[in-house]
Amino acid sequence: MDFLLPELPYAPDDLEPHISGRTVDVHYHKHHAGYMAKLADAIRGKPLERLLLEDIVRTAPENGDVFRNAAQVWNHTFYWNSLAPDGGGKPSGAVADLLRRDFGSIEDFKQNLATVAKGEFGSGWAWLVADRAGRLRVLSTSDADNPMRDGHQPILAIDVWEHAYYLDYQNERGRYVEACLDHLLNWRFAESNIETAAAEVPTPGRVKLAG
Ligand code: FE
Repeated sequence: MDFLLPELPYAPDDLEPHISGRTVDVHYHKHHAGYMAKLADAIRGKPLERLLLEDIVRTAPENGDVFRNAAQVWNHTFYWNSLAPDGGGKPSGAVADLLRRDFGSIEDFKQNLATVAKGEFGSGWAWLVADRAGRLRVLSTSDADNPMRDGHQPILAIDVWEHAYYLDYQNERGRYVEACLDHLLNWRFAESNIETAAAEVPTPGRVKLAG
């Protein structure tokens, strides 16, 4: 892997008024960049350097510094893409159909994701994933953990570490999560991730996601 931090897919203040430019700036340039610097320090010049970031996230020993920093690099890149200045609201098309199939309604899905995001104790992540059977599920992970470790395909992520919202919402994580759901979730990104998951060669027992 190289150690270049992927560029933000928008300007830092493009998510205002829901997430401030100051928050995105510190989150990206200090936190995200910091994880990348620590990962580089840990693996530069070692065999692990030749692996893809995703493979390190999937296979590195749990709770080691290599795993933590690699996962935080991956998770944050995924998070930036999970948000968009013109996002939020209700999805349409294939994503909407799958959410209705697996959660009953879009509203039930949003409530489910909000509950999980607000309920994760301490630092972590809230995810929409496709599980091994091809069904959409909502789950949370603690600290740096990533659903790919359990064979799930991430579709969308919300960072619920305090550094993601404290400058804008102080301790009110719920208001930040609602702002993500109502105004920022990037449904186009979700759709492309669902297409990727659906394109994987179906294994016995695996249900196709779409099509
Ligand atoms: Fe973060």
